[in-house]
Order: sequence, then structure tokens, then C-alpha cells
Amino acid sequence: MNIAYSRGVTLYLNITNRCTNNCVFCIRRTKEGVGYDLWLPREPNLQELLEAVGDPSIYQEVVFCGYGEPLIRLELVVAAAAEFKKRGAKQIRINTNGHANVIHGRNVVPELAPVVDVISISLNAQNAVVYGELSQPVKISAEEAYGAVLAFARECKKQALKVVLSVVNWPGVDLAACRKIADQLGVAFKVRQFGGTIES
Ligand code: SF4
Repeated sequence: MNIAYSRGVTLYLNITNRCTNNCVFCIRRTKEGVGYDLWLPREPNLQELLEAVGDPSIYQEVVFCGYGEPLIRLELVVAAAAEFKKRGAKQIRINTNGHANVIHGRNVVPELAPVVDVISISLNAQNAVVYGELSQPVKISAEEAYGAVLAFARECKKQALKVVLSVVNWPGVDLAACRKIADQLGVAFKVRQFGGTIES
């Protein structure tokens, strides 16, 4: 199981294949993925995750990211992040689709704030219509999902987390309008370039 893989000074963690979106540009749809076979035959438990990471203090950053949406496994993320902090992790980031409060039916940010430093949230679009086309939320409407993403970003900022809103440079995404949304929320903004080949 490829639970942890490093790139330079960053360690990336892969704890689930599941997601509440089905984005057109998701690495799960690409031939290349991230260069590793990240499809998990089963989801790792806390012990397996801690063993896969080893000493977190040797990395500049430890990132909970794909394949899927890490905050589907909130309990594991909170427990592991707390342990990484105890073991000297310098910075912990979560790359998330921002649906966590809908997934869990409560505000989970106060649980994350003490053990996480940075939340990178996939904004993906300048409005709910484009979000629906590109991110294709699987159980909730595009309007609800997009509203949840913005509310989650606001809540993370309120709890003093460093927030980054990200978009993929993709046809139909209005980068200037997305940047304006980030500016209005008072959070950082990042444009990611898509580097894969979508499988037909
Ligand atoms: S939110 Fe991320 S993991 Fe989920 S489908 Fe979109 S790109 Fe893939």
C-alpha cells in the first residue's frame, strides 16, 4: 500500500480512495496519477499510517492529500496529526475539497485547528454552476457543495488556520474571478497546472 510518499522535503499521505466529488481533472482519472500506484486495496489504520511516516520531523511539511478526500477519515486525520505534532512535525497541511462539515454534519474545524497548520481547499470554480460541471459532487447539489466550500474556508480562517484556495487552470475556470473570491475572504490563492492525461 502506498500510504506515504515524499517529494523533496514534503511527505504526502494517502489514506483513502473515497471522495464526495468526481472532478474532471482528478488524478484518479489520469493515466499517470502522481507517478505511484496510489489506489489503496483497503484503508490504512492509525498504526499503519504512523509506521509508514516514521519520523515526521525530518520533513518541512506533512500533507494529507489524495487519492481521495482525506477528511472523510476525520478521526484518523486528527489522531495522526496530533501524534505527528508530538513527534516534532514542522508543518501539517490538509488538501481538501472543503466538504467536511457536510460529510460529518457538524463543524469539524475546531477539531482540526489545534493539530493542523494549513488548509488548502479546492475552490475549483468561480460559481456553483461551473463547480457542478467540473467537480460533479456525488451526493449533494452543486449549490450546496459550493456553498459548503466557501463556508468551510471562512470557518478555517476564523479558527486562525492558514487557508489557501486553489483552482486548476482548466477551460471554463475564470482565474481572475476565483482570485477575487480568495481576496474577499482574505485567504491565499493558488493556481495549479494540470499535468496529466485523462483516461478515456
Ligand atoms: S476533490 Fe480532489 S480527490 Fe475529489 S474528485 Fe476532485 S480532484 Fe479528485
